[in-house]
Amino acid sequence: MADSKAADKIIHEILPVGLLQCNCSVVGDPHTREAIVIDPGDEVDRILEVVTRHNLKVRAILSTHAHIDHVGGLRKMKEATGAPVLMHPEDLELYKRLDRQASWLGMRVPAMVEVDESLREGDAVRWGRYLARVMHTPGHTRGSVCLYMPPDLAAEQAAQPGKLFAGDTLFAGSIGRTDLWGGSFDLIMRSLQTKLLALPDDTLVYPGHGPVTSIGEERETNPFLTVG
Ligand SMILES: [Zn+2]
Ligand SMILES: [Zn+2]
Repeated sequence: MADSKAADKIIHEILPVGLLQCNCSVVGDPHTREAIVIDPGDEVDRILEVVTRHNLKVRAILSTHAHIDHVGGLRKMKEATGAPVLMHPEDLELYKRLDRQASWLGMRVPAMVEVDESLREGDAVRWGRYLARVMHTPGHTRGSVCLYMPPDLAAEQAAQPGKLFAGDTLFAGSIGRTDLWGGSFDLIMRSLQTKLLALPDDTLVYPGHGPVTSIGEERETNPFLTVG
């Protein structure tokens, strides 16, 4: 039965894309071939190559927040897949300032796209047999969200820990900066303490930049989370 077990394994590929190496995730159901794409910030051709290689049908394009390194490829991704683009409404204003964000970084302004649907606290995004819960985690930006895939949804996931797509709210050993437009240190600390640290220790955390970590590891060692 080794083969059928392998075929049951969730498809998850992480691609660091663009100048700031934003971690884009492609998460697919091996049975239904349905997938979501999180934060296609740039290099959409590389992301589409992964989608094609796994023979996936993209059902939704999710944005953790509207910083340029996370949203630069939304338009191209939507045009290539026909999938809707989802974002928290409180980041729409930031998204509209893409030209200013581009000029800060000396980048060209990426093509904008219409945001199709809202991601709000408690919403469930479903694809194939999977589900991700939206956690509104303001602080890095007003409309920052984390996406949480609980461990017990599909039987073959039961032995696997949950997964958290943390955007720029939580990193391995650090947290998102709060000195940019719409940022708030008080809010990000509240988001971390009340929402992310409420998750089980074995939850795998996929930050918007840098290496994978876990809630338990950050609870123990992250200097922003161990004080007090
Ligand atoms: Zn950011
Ligand atoms: Zn970022």
